[in-house]
Amino acid sequence: MAQDPDDSPETRLARLVLALRSQGVSDAKVLQALEATPRQMFTPDLFQERAFEDSALPIACGQTISQPFIVGLMTQALKIEPRARVLEIGTGSGYQTAILSRLARLVYTVERYRTLLAEAESRFKALGLTNVITRFGDGGLGWPEQAPFDRIMVTAAAPNEPTALLAQLKPNGILVAPVGRGPVQILRRYCGDGKGGFVVEDLGEVRFVPLLDGVAREL
Ligand code: SAH
Repeated sequence: MAQDPDDSPETRLARLVLALRSQGVSDAKVLQALEATPRQMFTPDLFQERAFEDSALPIACGQTISQPFIVGLMTQALKIEPRARVLEIGTGSGYQTAILSRLARLVYTVERYRTLLAEAESRFKALGLTNVITRFGDGGLGWPEQAPFDRIMVTAAAPNEPTALLAQLKPNGILVAPVGRGPVQILRRYCGDGKGGFVVEDLGEVRFVPLLDGVAREL
């Protein structure tokens, strides 16, 4: 039987994006970026049926692809301007990276698993995302050679205030990161005050995998 046109990936994605909008993702550019990014391409075969659910899903190496609502919320919180250079820590599937790449001039992304990074790179290529620059390494240290950044997004939970990353932010830059050691963390936004200090806001509770020290020994 032919597939019901209402169940095409595009329709399912559009429905998901509408739901995110009703939950408070209101920035039109962020909604457009979500709608332009086929989440099924970032979702493992085993979970294809769930690619358009608003939930985090397992990926290789015991990691996760983030929940779409949280991706929308964090991207919106970053207030990306078109000329921005953005650093992302924790490439994972590359889903969040792809969304950032549609809003920023350049996205630098760091991952500590080689296999995840290689898979993400092939997705960026398939999607024609040419403004993403990847690095295998410990993202907790940032990317000093490319600093300072206009925006920084951390997609793994920092156990403490991410001071090394804050030091790589421009004076008026913005950093968004989950901060905390437990299974539930607080999503924090740090806005540079232009004088070396930060205005810090709590944006709610989130659940991320931890930001770990060093690179992974496994693939
Ligand atoms: N944004 C991703 C979320 C991936 S989960 C997505 O949407 O798919 C978080 C990722 O952070 C994992 O892939 C994990 O390996 C990575 N990570 C954890 N600690 C890290 C570190 N110190 N440096 C770089 N990446 C790290």
